[in-house]
Amino acid sequence: AFNANVAAAQDALNAFIVATPDKALEAADAVDAARAKGETLGIMAGVPIGMKDLFATEGVQTTAASHMLEGFIPQYESTVSANLWRAGAGMLGKLNLDQFAMGSSNETSHFGNVVSPWRRNDGGNAPLAPGGSSGGSSAAVAARLCPAATGTDTGGSIRQPAAFTGISGIKPTYGRCSRWGVVAFASSLDQAGPMARDVTDCAIMLEAMAGFDPKDATSLDLPVPQWEASLDPDMRGKRIGIPREYRMDGTDSEILKSWDDGIAWMRDAGAEIVEVSLPHTKYALPAYYIVAPAEASSNLARYDGVRYGLRDLPTGAGLQDMYAATRAAGFGDEVKRRILIGAYVLSAGFYDAYYNQAQRVRTLIAADFAAAFEVCDLILAPTTPTASFALGEKMDDPLAMYLNDVFAVPASLAGLPAMSVPAGLNGQGLPLGLQLIGRAFDEQGVLNAGLAIE
Ligand code: GLN
Repeated sequence: AFNANVAAAQDALNAFIVATPDKALEAADAVDAARAKGETLGIMAGVPIGMKDLFATEGVQTTAASHMLEGFIPQYESTVSANLWRAGAGMLGKLNLDQFAMGSSNETSHFGNVVSPWRRNDGGNAPLAPGGSSGGSSAAVAARLCPAATGTDTGGSIRQPAAFTGISGIKPTYGRCSRWGVVAFASSLDQAGPMARDVTDCAIMLEAMAGFDPKDATSLDLPVPQWEASLDPDMRGKRIGIPREYRMDGTDSEILKSWDDGIAWMRDAGAEIVEVSLPHTKYALPAYYIVAPAEASSNLARYDGVRYGLRDLPTGAGLQDMYAATRAAGFGDEVKRRILIGAYVLSAGFYDAYYNQAQRVRTLIAADFAAAFEVCDLILAPTTPTASFALGEKMDDPLAMYLNDVFAVPASLAGLPAMSVPAGLNGQGLPLGLQLIGRAFDEQGVLNAGLAIE
């Protein structure tokens, strides 16, 4: 049934880059066989999921939504996807995304934008952005093409698309999910996580995805907690911090109203509400848009036309010409913009002024959170400053696009677990999300508070 829905919705939503119906059926058959033999089934047994096309999947094209990797068929499986298959999940297909996970609307994909299944109720029928970069994942889960999907979050790419489409998504603590086999964007920030219909499904899927991996040098060597079994929405004895600096100009009044609703729901669940201060918040976005492009410019240097992916070798050309032609043809505009910014902030003359400064700011942001978590257990904030916007609306204005990440990037820079949960609809009938940020390793606290809101 899911395979049929994936095929039926493809023209309207463009959520998948490739569908893999046989893989989904194979996994279902394997679960049936295991059940018949009386074997213990994994926690994802028989669940068909969508896989963001940033995870390497053995024998199945993996593109990062870029022309650079079009046709690339990995010979190996990412650790996170291997963990999911071992837990019994099956793959419906590879999901569309922003090219190399750079974007907030899924409009930078080489394979065309994804369309959100949502529409405004006020007459306007303009197609809306599903958020990004995990826009295929959010649209597919919201449209019920799959019960759950993987996402990755470097600066909000799980949380923002979840908020835009009325689903749940958690970015765990940096290091919980292995980055091995995930196409690298900004390695000190990249983190995989689940996107699903509700908090419980996220807890189950995160359990399957997470775990120490010796192949990732930044993998956390900690046991995976039984998050689902410990879910508890009782907030008595919990202090929920409300960060003063997140009441920013430019935030939609309906977003502020939903934040107030969230505060009321937390009180109803027994929590104590405390105001906290994260004084360096206003520097988070500029610091992110220096650190992330810097790491991207370094990571993307590997796409040179030599080893794998696209090769554009003009007749009679030398090596330098091949690099230039390959990279000119293979990368989209946003990816080139990031590489240029990254190379600039890392260059000898500007390294101290930009890159080092941004790294110092990153340390201050982490210290802000550490101080706040002395007086509260969790932080509650909006996920985004607006609801979903029309496709095309922000594509000519990168700064406006980047501003959409303003509430998401601080937790990324600090490596903290953060989740977006649905928090009702705005006046135009579009979903809004609320964000919960926890102490490092406290995914349980984040999931529990998410359950209290849900
Ligand atoms: N929108 C942010 C960016 O374009 C975040 C992307 C992400 O988390 N992968 O960098």
